[in-house]
Amino acid sequence: MNCYQKEDLIKMVEDAKQLTQKGKVADYIPALGEADPSTLAVAIYSGERECIYAGNIDEVFTLQSISKVLTLALALMDRGADYVFQRVGMEPTGDPFNSISKLESSVPSKPLNPMINAGALAVTDMLVGNTIEDKLERLLNFIRQLTGNDRITYNPVVAQSEFETADLNRSLCYFMRQHGIVESNVEQLINLYTKHCAIEMNCNDLAKLGFVIGNEGRDPNSDQNIIPLEIARIVKTFMVTCGMYNASGEFAIKVGIPAKSGVSGGILGSVPHGVGIGIYGPALDDKGNSIGGLRLLELIAKQSNLSIF
Ligand code: GLN
Repeated sequence: MNCYQKEDLIKMVEDAKQLTQKGKVADYIPALGEADPSTLAVAIYSGERECIYAGNIDEVFTLQSISKVLTLALALMDRGADYVFQRVGMEPTGDPFNSISKLESSVPSKPLNPMINAGALAVTDMLVGNTIEDKLERLLNFIRQLTGNDRITYNPVVAQSEFETADLNRSLCYFMRQHGIVESNVEQLINLYTKHCAIEMNCNDLAKLGFVIGNEGRDPNSDQNIIPLEIARIVKTFMVTCGMYNASGEFAIKVGIPAKSGVSGGILGSVPHGVGIGIYGPALDDKGNSIGGLRLLELIAKQSNLSIF
């Protein structure tokens, strides 16, 4: 995808935008309910110059579940794969992202993967740091490195809004604490989790981050390895198998790009050795994925033959 295709990208956004009327903004986190459902924006980064983009690119949004990719990468770097996968599995669930049912039925009881809420909460508990503030600052610095944007931080209003309403996530934590999967005080864990879900950026930042993950963890500008190769691979694999919740199979067939969505309407795409894609469209389908964003990714992937399969 090169700059001269910007015209095509604008057309694809216009096309996909029509679907946004059929979606619904997430409002179980009250602050997310204020988003404009007709918004659709995309940035594509290929490592050389600036991103190409279409739609309202200045709009910032919170990462929500996209942050699960980043906490997983950092936990793997902090603790190593053996430690992480003793506490969280590697298999897709086929259930909604916030489901509790498999926690009870799996033996031994552990979350099936790090991309669902239970798994991500367990992963958040693994981050190294003396305090919540330390852990959050380490995660933010990691994300600042990945995006090349020093100003990345979290949105305190969205974090607080989720903290006040996160009883389902609290129940997942209590269940896991009983089974020795998480160790922290539940309120502290929810505090850190809701803050990392509320980390904010725009589509350009997201596309750059996606590029580095696709590029085996290497920053094209500094040539620095920000994520070790094996960890970038693990993360991309989870994005393929579990990144779009219980729509991951259909997404693999229709789009075929390692991707991760969030209920804010963001989608992160990482084409291995290819491009990074950042999308924002807050109108969601019934599985919690951006409805316009999914269509847009389908159009982009077809046009540029981006499927990895
Ligand atoms: N913070 C959100 C939650 O835990 C993230 C969920 C998501 O984006 N699917 O409910």
